[in-house]
Amino acid sequence: MKHPTRSILSVAVACALLATSALAGSAPAEPNASTSAPAGRAGVPFPDAPEIAPIGVRLDKYLDLPDSAKGPAIDPHKGYRLEKLGRGLYMVTDNAYQSMFMVYEAGVVVVDAPPSYAAKLKQAIAEVTKLPITHIIYSHSHTDHIGGAGLLGGHPIIVAQEETRRLLRRDADPARPLPTVVFKNSYRMHLGSQHLELSYHGDGHEPGNIFIYAPEQKTLMVVDLVFPGWMPFRRFAVAHDLPAWMAQVELIATLPFDKLVAGHVARLGTRADVLTQIEFDNDVKSAAAAALKAVPFVAGINPADAGNPWALTDDYTARVAGHCVKELTPKWSSRLGAFDTFVWDQCYAMEQSLRVD
Ligand SMILES: [Zn+2]
Repeated sequence: MKHPTRSILSVAVACALLATSALAGSAPAEPNASTSAPAGRAGVPFPDAPEIAPIGVRLDKYLDLPDSAKGPAIDPHKGYRLEKLGRGLYMVTDNAYQSMFMVYEAGVVVVDAPPSYAAKLKQAIAEVTKLPITHIIYSHSHTDHIGGAGLLGGHPIIVAQEETRRLLRRDADPARPLPTVVFKNSYRMHLGSQHLELSYHGDGHEPGNIFIYAPEQKTLMVVDLVFPGWMPFRRFAVAHDLPAWMAQVELIATLPFDKLVAGHVARLGTRADVLTQIEFDNDVKSAAAAALKAVPFVAGINPADAGNPWALTDDYTARVAGHCVKELTPKWSSRLGAFDTFVWDQCYAMEQSLRVD
């Protein structure tokens, strides 16, 4: 996570001084000093707080999922679901994670091995072929997507972008064997009559996260960028570089795919899902930008905290995020699955990015 820059800090200190003098005169409405909560405990809610509960508050019931967030059921005895994407190409999913494999004349190429069902991956492949796994492609280094690679056995060729190898060397995790073939910008795999095109478009989700395209099957796999039917995972899937992450989602919309394997959630993605997410991402950006303009830096803070720039910044960003959440709720709360889980995170991530990126 990034921290406010020194300039923000100096603004905070300047505002702290302003606040002290302002509070010495006619104090802003409803200072926290009016509550009796002990220091460090929750005080009264902010005025005009959103109905969607903020981070860290327990909910009795989350919002119901819209039908557009749901996918085909999983057979509980199998624990995974196999979906054919085209000639020799299959998605495997447990309706939370997604990976795929491609069968060619001499073997099988596996793309990602999420630990949540990696122990069943060989069983899933055996449903369609007896051929061995000859290659594994890593979409990126994160263990929740490739941490089951070590369970696949044998001595497959492992292909990844060079940044993924750098990160995996650092992580030194035996569950994620090092890539044996790396590339920088693009890599074409011709295996028998099958083809895969791997390409790298820079750091967005994390360095090394690649696009994997099967041209004949018109299937694109890109992980942790699009969440078909759903709210993105928190903080835009913990985007390493949020502006670049948003640009990569927009790039996906320009590519000639019919089916998107997005790495998460219960169903395949479509072009319409990508366009919906672009609209949502841009709405969060607009709402956070409007909130940063509309919300005063100091309002209602306890005068005793006026010399604490982190307190002022925390209070300010909470009010900015709340303004942003309120703006987004009417349009999106019933349109995306689990809107209430991470909308505060998205607003916090976006206001932070808009202030420092
Ligand atoms: Zn990831």
